Amino acid sequence: IKIKVKNIEIPVAFASAFEGEIIRRGDMQVEFDGSRVDCAELVQTCEMSEVEDHKITVIGPEADDMELGSKNSIAYVVKVAGKNMQPDFEPVIERKFHNYINCIEGVYHTGQRDMQRIRISKDAYAAGFRVRHIGEVLYSQVKNEFDAVVDKCEVVIYTDPAECKRIRHEVAIPVFNKRDDRLASLTDESVDVYYSCILCQAFSPSHVCVVTPERLGLCGAVSWLDAKATHQLDPNGPCQEITKERVIDERIGEYEDVNEAVRKFSQGALEEVSLYSIMEKPMTSCGCFECICGIEPFSNGVCIANREYAGMTPLGMTFPELASMTGGGVQTPGFMGHGKHFIGSKKFMKAEGGVERIVWMPKELKETVAERLNATAKEIYGIDNFTDMIGDETIATDPEELVTFLTEKGHPALGLDPMM
Ligand code: SF4
Ligand code: ZN
Repeated sequence: IKIKVKNIEIPVAFASAFEGEIIRRGDMQVEFDGSRVDCAELVQTCEMSEVEDHKITVIGPEADDMELGSKNSIAYVVKVAGKNMQPDFEPVIERKFHNYINCIEGVYHTGQRDMQRIRISKDAYAAGFRVRHIGEVLYSQVKNEFDAVVDKCEVVIYTDPAECKRIRHEVAIPVFNKRDDRLASLTDESVDVYYSCILCQAFSPSHVCVVTPERLGLCGAVSWLDAKATHQLDPNGPCQEITKERVIDERIGEYEDVNEAVRKFSQGALEEVSLYSIMEKPMTSCGCFECICGIEPFSNGVCIANREYAGMTPLGMTFPELASMTGGGVQTPGFMGHGKHFIGSKKFMKAEGGVERIVWMPKELKETVAERLNATAKEIYGIDNFTDMIGDETIATDPEELVTFLTEKGHPALGLDPMM
């Protein structure tokens, strides 16, 4: 017999009413920020004997020992065990953390994987809320919502910076990479269904992601395999199968079935979307995209900025500035939020010519995606070391200097048709 956890043992309220709550800098006690320091959130499938149910451990300083308004590291590993548990379900459970932590009164969460950001308000802190209570919430909610597969659950929260660094780089990132690699063998053509995801409708009520093998959700945390697992775990939940039988336009990746699904799940707010175009009926963006891609008219190309990048782009905008005009669940032709993994996809902006449109990316992002992106460029266009032709902030953040660099390198975008 499984007993649902009824009362979550925390000193503040827990309800979906708090989900959209924003905590401003001035109102926050402490902050955890994966884009600046080492953070991670991870579910680990363990043997029954390895998990002590309801054990919550904090390794490192508590909120009391953190300076008011400071930015800190946090990494939580949620160890689960159960007869029906499968490692395929791990990312699905992880993705719910966003929703669980946001339901805490006075606590805000955004992002995922090693890029989450959490704020604890001064009021929540004054009411007695501490880091360990995040563990209580994760424990209770995982037990409640995943009782079909999770029998025992234990949470270890690291706040010690060195431990967070270790967990992030030695434990979490290898797991994330492995998940991404599993997808590599699947193509959009090789599957019969895509999946919708509406997990972000709490923040962006009309936003729907269409997740395909070659285009993961823009948060970077929901791959086609994850969406499939979500659907298996919860057939009436946020991810629904979308058939792809009635093609409207192969070039931009538009299907009647997909349009119907998007209309339904956006409650009519969205009529038509394409899967492969940034200019024609592009997919909408909520707020949690890993990257934003925007057209750069001088080079006929696109620039991409990732959330961690704090500097200027050749578009004359920083990431937050780009985000403010891209989010909110509306279609913004010329700008699109997407996952990092999408950058090396053969379906990236396929309608506009594909990855050869990419003219600029922050250096760190370029290094992260280089292997896949170079392999894709080699396969599609026969270009070697394509990333060497792409600008970054150490080369230019000014569009004219960028074009000079691209011209020197013979970047293929310069010879393509203008996008607008
Ligand atoms: Fe789902 Fe898209 Fe939100 Fe990711 S960004 S959780 S795929 S709706
Ligand atoms: Zn989102």
